[in-house]
Amino acid sequence: MTLTEHFSFEELTRTGQSALQDANRREARDYIDKLKLVAEMLEAIRAKFGAVRVNSGFRGPAVNAAVGGSATSQHSKGEAADIVCPSTTVDELHRWIVVESGLKFGQCILEKPAGSAWVHISLGAPYRDPKKCGESLAFDGKTYTPKRY
Ligand SMILES: [Zn+2]
Repeated sequence: MTLTEHFSFEELTRTGQSALQDANRREARDYIDKLKLVAEMLEAIRAKFGAVRVNSGFRGPAVNAAVGGSATSQHSKGEAADIVCPSTTVDELHRWIVVESGLKFGQCILEKPAGSAWVHISLGAPYRDPKKCGESLAFDGKTYTPKRY
């Protein structure tokens, strides 16, 4: 199923937990409208950097239970994606989204736990408290800190 021109429902609902793949997609059907809005943000990023790889999008109750994820995460509401762009660094990707893109994101997090790196981007208002929108953070695997440019 296509969400936007370049992004599919399958791509935004994939999970590394292969036994839970079907369950995750079943649970995701209630969130298609929001997944489309996430995909629209990814289209803007794709227009700038080319291919966008989605490491994780929707993570429903089945996946969250298995990986000990947060049920209050925007991922579990179909409102967030973890991405990398092969054509650029996560640092530049994060900087561009926060500083230049004009995207009305909820949170944009430069995530760099040991040995890995990606950018988390989520929907802004009305899906997230307006007071907590446009939030730019860095995460080192332990601590979230404000990331200013
Ligand atoms: Zn994330």
